[in-house]
Amino acid sequence: VGRWLLMRCDHSFGNCKPDYSQLFINNEFVDSVSGKTFATFNPATGKEIIKVSEGDKADVDLAVIAAKKAFHRNSEWRQLSPLQRTALMNKLCGLMTRDKDLLASLETQDNGKPYAEALFDVTYSMLTLQYYAGWTDKFFGDTIPAGGFTSMTRKEPVGVVGQIIPWNYPLLMLAWKWGPALATGCTIIMKPAEQTPLTALHMAALAKEAGFPAGVINVINGFGPTAGAAISEHPDIAKVAFTGSVDIGRIVMEAAAKSNLKRVSLELGGKSPVVAFDDADIDFAVDTTHEALFSNHGQSCCAGSRTYVHEKIYDQFVAKAAAKAKERKVGNPFEANVQQGPQIDQEMLTKVLGYIESGQKEGAKLQAGGKRIGNVGFFVEPTVFSDVKDDMRIAQEEIFGPVQSIFKFSSLEEMIDRANNVQYGLAAGVITNDINKALKFANSVDAGSVWINCYDAVLPSTPFGGYKHSGIGRELGKDGLDNYLETKTITMKLL
Ligand code: NAD
Repeated sequence: VGRWLLMRCDHSFGNCKPDYSQLFINNEFVDSVSGKTFATFNPATGKEIIKVSEGDKADVDLAVIAAKKAFHRNSEWRQLSPLQRTALMNKLCGLMTRDKDLLASLETQDNGKPYAEALFDVTYSMLTLQYYAGWTDKFFGDTIPAGGFTSMTRKEPVGVVGQIIPWNYPLLMLAWKWGPALATGCTIIMKPAEQTPLTALHMAALAKEAGFPAGVINVINGFGPTAGAAISEHPDIAKVAFTGSVDIGRIVMEAAAKSNLKRVSLELGGKSPVVAFDDADIDFAVDTTHEALFSNHGQSCCAGSRTYVHEKIYDQFVAKAAAKAKERKVGNPFEANVQQGPQIDQEMLTKVLGYIESGQKEGAKLQAGGKRIGNVGFFVEPTVFSDVKDDMRIAQEEIFGPVQSIFKFSSLEEMIDRANNVQYGLAAGVITNDINKALKFANSVDAGSVWINCYDAVLPSTPFGGYKHSGIGRELGKDGLDNYLETKTITMKLL
């Protein structure tokens, strides 16, 4: 595979020619009904990688017809035993292992994340699918004591599901969504983000090669207001799973309510606090909070974007955090040791630089970075602000970029109130050697995930999702199956 890849890819900036660029409907790659295409770009160079077919409502309609047929009670897919579904999913994982370098190259090229991180995403995606492959025969119903009746529940797949995902972890978000949907026996219409369609198309080809029946998995490239809206409004899609921004989450939920009351799960944004107490090892606290924010260029829904530091260690911490940000290696994501590639596109670059400007105007102290790097691609200096106040825009709004904001606190109680004083509630972290402080914080913070002395420790088996505006429902773990299941109660009278 290595040699084959070298022949296909010029890793200097990852000019790896993708094999697939059309829509994937009913196990075939096809042009869109309109014949329209759009370009996907390499954010490190700003150059077009390839034009992909642009799907919209007409294509979603065709995909839904295929997915409905595949979900028919007598279809090949519905007749498979759970363990046959397990085998198909594991076969898909085997093909991902075979193609891991290619998948990682496509991801780095399309998204800009460092190649080593893209490889990690491929492995983690595969582990997620493997984890769910093990669930196919383990979601049991109950038998219920009911006097003269015998009553039991069955867990049944919800049906045709729409899945709309963002660009920050294209392959991983696909795996988080395909895993439980396939394990439960649903059929899928997926819309990847318009910025990053390439790994989803390669995965569609692998699904066909693995032997998934036609119509079980469909991938429609396209834009939100057209292809995305067609999914959330479709009367024959039983459930929509969405990951993205809060604003679009609202639109998806509204469309679901107005059309057919389809089930909705939402994984939305965050403004997650990470707290460093004065009893912690300061270097460990600096490193952990640095990675919590800067990993994936700050483009993580659970980025630790509010660093709260105890007043006793504040000045020393700020100096070390700034030094660490200045050391972070930014550049060509295909180069070894590069830790940060470009932001995803011009729009995000402008947005991030706008937040940096607003932080400076509102009185935060710039300790590191603050500028665009060069004028090719969308690179931003790792940026650190100290003296950030809770009412500043950089303290309240999701920046989704490499900008660390450091706040000072003096007591646990005060800090918990401040940590909870935002609209989001996705994740939180605490670094301390005092178990009482750690658990008090963990129990009191409004967050779907809390990490103690670590960050971003998300496993396929651990539920993930948000409180408040950060979303509805949980992905991963056993809870992740619930999004794709209906409960049917069957009651029999004993004669
Ligand atoms: P976005 O909401 O703009 O787009 C997400 C997806 O929704 C894309 O596929 C887009 O095409 C589609 N979309 C856009 N308009 C639509 C519409 N009207 N109807 C249906 N679909 C539509 O978000 P983004 O900028 O791509 O991603 C960044 C956001 O995603 C951040 O806010 C981040 O926090 C969030 N995010 C959350 C999680 C999580 O698990 N909670 C994970 C990753 C990203």
